Amino acid sequence: MNKFNRRKFLGGAAAVAASSAVPNKSEAALWRRTTRSEERVVVIGSGFGGGISALRLAQAGVKVLVLEKGRWWPTGPNSDTFPSATVLSKKHFFYTAWPEYGGFRIGLWPYAGILEAIPSPSHTIVSACGVGGGSLVYQGMSLQPDEKNFTDWFPAGIDYQEMDQVYYPRVAEMLELQTAPDELINSTTYKAARIFADRVQQAGYHLTKIPMPIDWQFALDELDGLMKPSYTNGDCALGVKNGGKHSVDVTYIDQALATGNVTVEALHHVREIEKDADGSWLVYVDRTTVYGTVLEHKIVKTPTLIRACS
Ligand SMILES: Cc1cc2nc3c(=O)[nH]c(=O)nc-3n(C[C@H](O)[C@H](O)[C@H](O)COP(=O)(O)OP(=O)(O)OC[C@H]3O[C@@H](n4cnc5c(N)ncnc54)[C@H](O)[C@@H]3O)c2cc1C
Repeated sequence: MNKFNRRKFLGGAAAVAASSAVPNKSEAALWRRTTRSEERVVVIGSGFGGGISALRLAQAGVKVLVLEKGRWWPTGPNSDTFPSATVLSKKHFFYTAWPEYGGFRIGLWPYAGILEAIPSPSHTIVSACGVGGGSLVYQGMSLQPDEKNFTDWFPAGIDYQEMDQVYYPRVAEMLELQTAPDELINSTTYKAARIFADRVQQAGYHLTKIPMPIDWQFALDELDGLMKPSYTNGDCALGVKNGGKHSVDVTYIDQALATGNVTVEALHHVREIEKDADGSWLVYVDRTTVYGTVLEHKIVKTPTLIRACS
């Protein structure tokens, strides 16, 4: 049997942090039921990799189960879902690992927070947890490389012309890419950006706006006082509370769910995978609360496993 143990699956420092950060040590002794099921396709992770895989398979008529260890982060005008950039809260960090400052762990209490910090001796890797993965916190700068850059850096065999004519436009359409309107950039709030742009031009560099997956009307509405700030105060670095950001949860995952062929299980933490004797995969999952408390163990058997978990 080709077994990946938990530590191997989570990877190095993350696993050490994970095993030392179980929310409630007395839980280890508690009994939890184990359920078993079989699925045609299992996708681990619901970011770009998982979300797009799930949608395209579902459109082809294939049933898919998506397992995501983070929570849903619903948005909407004046919502308070995501943490703030300036006030530390339980929502900042995922329960498996907290960052250290001056030798002390600064995590407050276990929670399925938005950022997973994975420390190593030389650096700390930060990734996002939640349905939508990194798209919840990424800036969304969506640049298409020119042909030379593409062929210099991407593996041979991926055809630039096809990417240019089919796939880049397809992504741009799904994410509704737009550049920020001048009305926003010329507002008082974005003075720093204007100064930066001036300096870039003075230095003789080409200046251009970067398309982003954002409905900029939300930011303009914030400036007009129609919504609480989220884009315009920098909170968007930890997720856009008001919405208007076309992240994976509200695009690919939303459309995948609409096909009826996809189930997304949030707060489902994959701990281990192994190959069964018949060649199928066995996926060992903990269903948790938002506090990381394990409610149930699941073993999901599948002939097709897509690991889209960073
Ligand atoms: C701060 C920041 C800014 C960025 N800005 C940009 C940008 O402007 N433009 C750009 O193109 N890219 C940007 N990126 C990069 C981009 O977000 C990533 O390339 C992209 O999200 C990767 O997608 P993915 O599906 O591979 O992984 P992710 O989006 O990381 O998704 C992986 C998912 O798997 C889940 N998962 C992990 N382990 C498990 C497990 N054991 N069980 C269950 N679920 C699990 C995670 O919770 C996560 O939701 C940025 C990234 C960050 C962090």
